[in-house]
Amino acid sequence: MIILKSPREIALMRAGGRILAEVRERLRAFVKPGISTAEIDREVETFIEEKGAKPAFKGYRGFPATVCTSINEEVVHGIPSPARRLKEGDIIGLDLGCIVDGYYADCAFTLAVGEVPPRVQQLLDVTQESLERGVDQCRPGRRLGDISHAVQEHVERHGFSVVRAFVGHGIGRELHEDPQIPNFGEAGRGPLLKPGMVLAIEPMVTMGGWEVRILPDRWTAVTEDGSLAAHFEHTVAITENGPDILTR
Ligand code: MG
Repeated sequence: MIILKSPREIALMRAGGRILAEVRERLRAFVKPGISTAEIDREVETFIEEKGAKPAFKGYRGFPATVCTSINEEVVHGIPSPARRLKEGDIIGLDLGCIVDGYYADCAFTLAVGEVPPRVQQLLDVTQESLERGVDQCRPGRRLGDISHAVQEHVERHGFSVVRAFVGHGIGRELHEDPQIPNFGEAGRGPLLKPGMVLAIEPMVTMGGWEVRILPDRWTAVTEDGSLAAHFEHTVAITENGPDILTR
């Protein structure tokens, strides 16, 4: 069942989304060669708590940290570690959420660490653009499949692949609510989009194949073929006037 949110509920999620947007700006300056993923995690946790919010992922189904830090061929759900230091030329996916007054906000983005080759930068750009295209479908009268199709079409046109094993989701009093939002599918299919729906749209895109596997830590998802992967996510409310990005 897709739970519609009231303006009051959307305002709480926007408050969380603003905090995440501020974190994103801080991390752009903070993430550089030599720092560890544990340092990133500590920086984000401190900031979220200073703002009076709660980290959403810490303890969620046993996840041990505030931020998922996924480097290079890691797609999502990488665990921060003091032993894992960033190198020039890495890419790192950062997925973070927070809770304000019982309501969740969720976002993700992928940063290049120093200089990366043009095709790698294109992977990041195309993934972010595919998110924007998916978000643009968040209008009353469109269907869920319109989001999925818009993402997939943009990604595959550039020769990249969409991960199948993980999908976007509704969000509200729970981190993961209905509906599931695949990043692939047919336009014109699925539930009608309505004002009051709040969706976390999150394309995960690889330079090679779409298959993934989970590492023995039981969290980190990596590409089966070792190719690089990027991840971008926004929490978006559907309004009469179209998409309202709460995590911008
Ligand atoms: Mg999410």
